Amino acid sequence: MIARVTLELALRREFDYLIPPELSGQIDVGSRVQVPLGARKVLGCVTALAEESAHARLKPILKVIGAQTLVTPKVLRLARWIGEYYCCAPEVALKSVLPDAVRQEQAGWREQLYVRALPFSGELPKLAKRQKEIWHIIEERREMPLQELIELAETTAATIRRLEDKGLVAISQQISERDPYAREHILPTQPLPLNPAQAKGLAEIVAAMDGKTNPKAEIRGPKQGRDSKAGDGARQDSPAPAERASVFLLHGVTGSGKTEVYLQAIAHALEQGKGAIVLVPEISLTPQTVERFKARFSSGKLQTLVAVLHSHLSTGERHDEWHKIRQGRARIVIGARSAIFAPVDPLGLIIVDEEHEHTYKQEESPRYHARDVAIMRGQMEGATVVLGSATPSMESFYNCTRGKFKLLQMLERVDDQKMPVVRIVDLRQSLRHGKTVPIFSPQLKEAITQRLERREQTILFLNRRGYSTSLQCPLCGYVAGCPNCSISLTYHRQEQKLRCHICGHTEPVPGVCPNEKCRNPQIRYSGLGTQKVEETLNKLFPEARTVRMDSDALKRKEDYRRILGDFRAGKIDILLGTQMIAKGLHFPNVTLVGIIYADLALHQPDFRASERTFQLLTQVAGRAGRGDIEGEVFVQAFTPFHPAIQFARRHDFTGFYDQELEFREHLKYPPFSRVALLTLKGRNEEKVAFCAEHLKRDLEASLKDSKDLILAGPAPAPLLRAETFYRYQIMLRVQRMSGVSKKLAQLMESLALPEDVSLAVDVDPVDLG
Ligand code: ADP
Ligand code: ZN
Repeated sequence: MIARVTLELALRREFDYLIPPELSGQIDVGSRVQVPLGARKVLGCVTALAEESAHARLKPILKVIGAQTLVTPKVLRLARWIGEYYCCAPEVALKSVLPDAVRQEQAGWREQLYVRALPFSGELPKLAKRQKEIWHIIEERREMPLQELIELAETTAATIRRLEDKGLVAISQQISERDPYAREHILPTQPLPLNPAQAKGLAEIVAAMDGKTNPKAEIRGPKQGRDSKAGDGARQDSPAPAERASVFLLHGVTGSGKTEVYLQAIAHALEQGKGAIVLVPEISLTPQTVERFKARFSSGKLQTLVAVLHSHLSTGERHDEWHKIRQGRARIVIGARSAIFAPVDPLGLIIVDEEHEHTYKQEESPRYHARDVAIMRGQMEGATVVLGSATPSMESFYNCTRGKFKLLQMLERVDDQKMPVVRIVDLRQSLRHGKTVPIFSPQLKEAITQRLERREQTILFLNRRGYSTSLQCPLCGYVAGCPNCSISLTYHRQEQKLRCHICGHTEPVPGVCPNEKCRNPQIRYSGLGTQKVEETLNKLFPEARTVRMDSDALKRKEDYRRILGDFRAGKIDILLGTQMIAKGLHFPNVTLVGIIYADLALHQPDFRASERTFQLLTQVAGRAGRGDIEGEVFVQAFTPFHPAIQFARRHDFTGFYDQELEFREHLKYPPFSRVALLTLKGRNEEKVAFCAEHLKRDLEASLKDSKDLILAGPAPAPLLRAETFYRYQIMLRVQRMSGVSKKLAQLMESLALPEDVSLAVDVDPVDLG
């Protein structure tokens, strides 16, 4: 027998190897193997088995990794689709579907010595007093790790060995699973009685799930959205679905009880004998989130392990969590982006919470979008997909109006809590008074003072870290810029350094203007970051307990937990931070949220700038008033009448959606097209620009038959120079991407670029920088 293997090397082809007799029966499609390549040993994945090969003199496979096939055929199929759709080599796509810890198997299972009580008949042999005490412990527990027993009984291994000599216990190596949540104490929860909106949503999801197990019942399943149009022009890039799949968009305001709907839908999947994958953005993957899922399924007849996959786990923990899923012991997986590849089988349900989040897009190759991969996987495996959000993406909402997804809405908070009152503060007014721009308007200052008096909590938000965003000389106009990137350096006061937020370059703060001809000692800082806000807060409210939370302040992952714990416990009055604090946190005593500069994200050269601002404001505002007291939100802005700000103020998603959709249609941006961004980069700007022109002509030629093709550029990227590389971009827009992806892949292969210029293709990009 012969195995076809995709190697973990950028070779874009597969190799045939012999399956040696001693490994026969152990190798299947999806097995991870080690094979010889020239003088090297490399890892790869078996993608097919064959009787014969076109090549003579095949070398044998050296070794199989893992006792089970690691890539299931279904996940393998998904990886193929990713390679094709996102224009990347198959080995790159394959690599992303297994966590490193599993792929390389460096971690393996942890073995530990266990002490086990042996059955004995007759009388207990004579034991010393210490030995007897130890024996009572082990007799009661039956079995426990040796180390634990030593600690518990305050004894030594030698003493316990004596019990072994007497034939009372056996000591042996056993696998001991690493459980990253072992120390959390979890109280089981029961399903809550649902309110009408929740019940309706759940019923539709359940009906769709049932439609798949019983084809006759399929007629009941929701198929089309309310304004579905004939022809369904929005259906794009889908292979023929294995079974009919359903995708739901659960549009529910923060606090509307989406999570409870997820939990009950998962319970239904388990009742059907299937599993579920829950994706949450990395930042919302807090212990509380995980606990809500574990608590529901920790006991009762639906009991199952809940595996957690995310980057904060140790290599060993990740290995163990993954294998619990592969062995079918954990049927629920909760994790960030890459958990979409978890080997849950059979898969009944995929939930993508906060589906609009940009972190679902992987920013390096393979540049996949986990939400879109989820939809594809659901279609391939006949699993129901539920996308949840308080601020759905334009694409997903549009798919509902086109009948591709089914819209479920929950527009009120559980227990009828009111949405917070949002007040817009026009910062231009303060500018007109001739002073410098204030950080705190009098209104916001007054509101904070009230909260401190009433012992309620405040969250302040500014999406920019550091102290000042630039250092400028008022005489000669010199601005301290990064030597590697086309961006100004940010002043970090605590470290007394200038720092680049793109490449991390740092330099000391100059005492005088560095311009030789100027040497002005009065250089000025301008722009505002969280550090400066913190300093001002401390001056204005010296008695308040203020904590800043951004990636500068948090050096270790425990800091995040600790600060949130302190905030929850009421040990902090004001929490100040970047987008890190915008998401999914629930603090009942927070009654005030202040957004320092709401329009920071608005004036970016990106067609999604408005959408992002609207989402961010809505999410941040959702942090206020989640307890019994009504919340208040202050939004300080220089462009207070911008639609993104006004619609967010009125909590009006559909209003925002309608007007934004008009703009997108007019300019043929998504959801009215699919985008691919081609970025050329190199150290020599002229060469890069030249190659870009050349590439454009190639694109025009090879894509001339594509429907509604728009090619924009080449143009310098919004951030022209990053980490010493110049970047030029071509933006391609088209009706259907699948055919275009194929041509792009061909073009990339045939393209003869100079050695020092490289090309990256990003299909459905979320970051245009
Ligand atoms: P979302 O995920 O939409 O932000 P959550 O699911 O976190 O909302 O729900 C907000 C709060 O309301 C939670 O404390 C949750 O336990 C509670 N809750 C949800 N559904 C119900 C219900 N049907 N009855 C009572 N409380 C509920
Ligand atoms: Zn830089």
